[in-house]
Amino acid sequence: MKKFTVINEGFTCEKCDEVNPKAIKTCRNHCKKCLYSKHVDLKYPGDRMSLCLGMMPPVFVELDKKKGWMITHKCETCGEIKRNKAAEEDNLDLLSSMIFEQNKKTYEHSRGQKAGEKHL
Ligand SMILES: [Zn+2]
Ligand SMILES: [Zn+2]
Repeated sequence: MKKFTVINEGFTCEKCDEVNPKAIKTCRNHCKKCLYSKHVDLKYPGDRMSLCLGMMPPVFVELDKKKGWMITHKCETCGEIKRNKAAEEDNLDLLSSMIFEQNKKTYEHSRGQKAGEKHL
């Protein structure tokens, strides 16, 4: 018995106008170019039950040993946070530059603390 319908479909990104084809292995829930997602799912990936429909920019990227690249999206409208697995065709340049920025912040933060500086 089906509990909910998973909709796996292609879409045009509302952020950068990139045309994203339907993903082969997984439900595509974010743009492969700018990595923006949209708040369309309520409980399960692909249920498309959310009424929010806010844009969800990528706020954090991390490498999961088992799952691979994980992108954390935060909804601009309601603040909902979702973790999504990156797809194979995702923009690796953008992913790595996000990681670089994160590392840089961590580094500057720890250096700042050592020097006794206060960041506002
Ligand atoms: Zn996009
Ligand atoms: Zn939302």
